[in-house]
Formats: sequence, structure tokens, C-alpha cells
Amino acid sequence: MTAITTSVFELFKIGPGPSSSHTIGPMKAGYNFHLAVADLSFEEQPDNIEIRLYGSLSATGEGHGTDRAVVAGLLGFKPENVECEFLDSLADGTSRQFESGRISLGLSVKDVVFAEVENDFPYANTLLLRLRKGEEILFEQEYYSIGGGFIKWKGQPAEIPRVPPYQYSNMDELKAILSDEGLRMHQAILANETAISGISEDEIYEKLDAILDAMKQAVRNGLTAEGILPGPIGLHRKAKRLFENSSQPNCADSFLLRLNAYGFAASEENAAGHIVVTAPTSGSAGVIPAAVYALEEELGIERERVREGMLIAAALGFIAKHNASIAGAEVGCQGEVGVASAMAAGLIAYANGHRFWRTENAAESALEHHLGLTCDPVGGYVQIPCIERNAMGVVRAYNSYLIASVENEEFHKVSFDEVVKAMAETGKDMNAKYKETSLGGLAVSVPNC
Ligand code: SF4
Repeated sequence: MTAITTSVFELFKIGPGPSSSHTIGPMKAGYNFHLAVADLSFEEQPDNIEIRLYGSLSATGEGHGTDRAVVAGLLGFKPENVECEFLDSLADGTSRQFESGRISLGLSVKDVVFAEVENDFPYANTLLLRLRKGEEILFEQEYYSIGGGFIKWKGQPAEIPRVPPYQYSNMDELKAILSDEGLRMHQAILANETAISGISEDEIYEKLDAILDAMKQAVRNGLTAEGILPGPIGLHRKAKRLFENSSQPNCADSFLLRLNAYGFAASEENAAGHIVVTAPTSGSAGVIPAAVYALEEELGIERERVREGMLIAAALGFIAKHNASIAGAEVGCQGEVGVASAMAAGLIAYANGHRFWRTENAAESALEHHLGLTCDPVGGYVQIPCIERNAMGVVRAYNSYLIASVENEEFHKVSFDEVVKAMAETGKDMNAKYKETSLGGLAVSVPNC
């Protein structure tokens, strides 16, 4: 299998919620199209853009705000620089002016077609963007939103290979490198990142700090917000209440309540379409931020150690993505909250100073107990079960860390690679109803949403 060349900053991205595959990916596709047409010229001016969404982008795109995201991208916005208020303002269908090169035409979310859910494209979540004059297609691009805000497109030129110094495709290979080279894991990932992203170690830590600060800000914002989340479900925010209850006198559950509150907080911010960090996706954007917040604010772990733990979390996410998937549309929620929980467990263990084998065991255990988890968001909104599930994900991560921290190395029976393989197989066997289409599970058993 090919070596992993994903950057830490492809996995952790700051952007608007509520679903990286439904918001960040489509916005990047729209932005790519905006750039792609800039140098084109036509005898007759195009007068409309056809936007067709397939797979779960069609099934749940409306609830996830995919229409606003792709239109914002077409208008020249990127996930990291778009204002939530601007995205909200697109929802009413007001026409905006698309300007790129010599092309100028009106565009609104009403141009978005929610097309077939079942399809034969190479990836279920496909966007077809077409520049047209009346019915005539002048130019088209086929984009795939492949999870976690990553995109590909048909005919995409092969990337210039990025050659990291430590080449691995799974955990066993990475461990062999660490053992041969006498390295700690974060050192290998850091060296790889400098080669992959072409920036210095200091710049990597600066960017990691921005990611960590954005994660903590999302938690802080969620802890003070009140009211009802957007959409027809009418779901009340809960983070603030959980946090306040944790300070009741003689509360034996205060840490657990606060850990839950942190998970709810960032996840509720995501559901509100506010700025979060994909970790590894937006739907699971509450788990790692909750762990980071707890490590720094509750346990007093230094930033240096948390940065190192984030590099380990990234490596765990890379391996899951490379050998299975981190997309709910591909493998269900085991790939989103399950992988986030594994990444968080590894982060907590490593930041607490545990050696790598305990870190791996914590991550393995967290993912093992999410195997088979389906993705069935009620009404297509990343709210039920997603918000509570993020809180469960961080609690399970902490629990996995606690169990792993007293384990004996030779007694542990399941490796991280084995559980990732099980996730991939389970995902393949999972019915499409349970892969972010809202056609099964809770999405159909919960009425009136
Ligand atoms: S159920 Fe899980 S995978 Fe599906 S949208 Fe919610 S958080 Fe994402």
C-alpha cells in the first residue's frame, strides 16, 4: 500500500459546520470551479450554473446547508474565510453575482438541484457543476466530497508526490520505524509534516496553536450559548446547563459533567453552523476539542505536550482514513465519532506522558467500542444523534485512556490496525440507509422532524 502523505492541516481545518463533507467539501468544490472557469472564454456568454448534488449530499444536503456552502464557494469564498452571517444570508434565495474572469451571471441557492441519492459515480457524494448557456453545457466539472472536507475531481492531475522521510501506511509500519530509528512518535510525524507541507517546525507549531485555540474557542462559545439550534427539530442547547450543574456543592460527577459539557459545547456550535475545527470531520468536531479543553483547563497539561498529542491524534486519523474511511457516507458514524474518539484517546494518553504502546491501546479501545455505529441524522440535521454522540465520544476516549493506562503491554490482544480493518469491513457491509442518507435508523423512527 502507498505511504501516507496527508498533512496534519488537511485533517484539522477551521471552517463552518455542520458537516465537513456537506459544507467544507462542497464549498471547496465551488471555489475550485470558481477558479477553473476564470481563464475560460466563450463565443456566447454563459447565463447560468447548474449545480447537481448526489448521494447523501442530496439526501441530507438541505439540512446540512450544502446549498449555501457550494454557492458561497462559487462566489469565491473559502471555508477558512467565510463569515457565518454571510452563509446564513444566502439561505433566503436572493440572487448574488457570480464573477470569475470574463463571466458574470446571477446565482442563488435556488439553482441547486438535489438529484439522485443512489448513483454510479466513483464516490457517493458527488457534485456536478456545469456552466451553461440556456440548456447548452459549455463547461463541467465532476467533484467528489470524500469526507472530512477533502475533495477530488474527475480528471484531477496527479499530485507531485510528497516524500515524507518516514514512510508508513499503517500502525505496524509506523511502530517499526519508531523502533528502528529510536524516535518518539510525535518526532516522526513532525518530520513528515515539514516535508509534506514544506514549512518549518516552528511554523507547524504556530499553525497547531491556531487550531488548538479555535477548538477551545468553539468550546467556550458553546458553554455560554443558550436557546434552540437552527432547523425544524427545535433542539435546545444543553452545554451551559451541564457545565453549571458540575459546580453544585459536593458533586461527585463534576469532571464527568464538565467533560460532557465540553463535548456538547463544540458540537452545538457546529450544529449552529458556527466556526469549528474538523477533527477529523465537522460532525465529530466536539470530541477532540473537548479533550483538549479538559487537558489544558482541567488537568493543567502544558501546551507543548498537547501539541505533541495532536500530532499523534493526526497520525491515528491518517491511518483510519488511509485504510478505511473517516466519512459517515462511506462507513457510518464509526468513521466520524468513532475515529475522533480514537484520536482523542491517543491524544489524552500521549499528552499524559504515556509511552506509545499505551497510546495505541487507548486509541484501539476507543475505536473498537464504536464499531458498527451507523450514521442516521434525524431530519438530515447534524443534531440527533450527533451532538450527544460527540459527548459520548470524548467520555469513551477518556475511559479508554484510563483502562489503557494500567494495562500490561503483552496482555493487549487487539491492535489499532486490526480494529481499523474491522471498521472498513463493517462499513462495506453496512446498508446505504445507515450512511448519512437519513433513510434508516433514528432518522425514520423519530417522527415529525
Ligand atoms: S450520525 Fe455521526 S457520522 Fe452521521 S452526521 Fe451525525 S456525527 Fe456525522
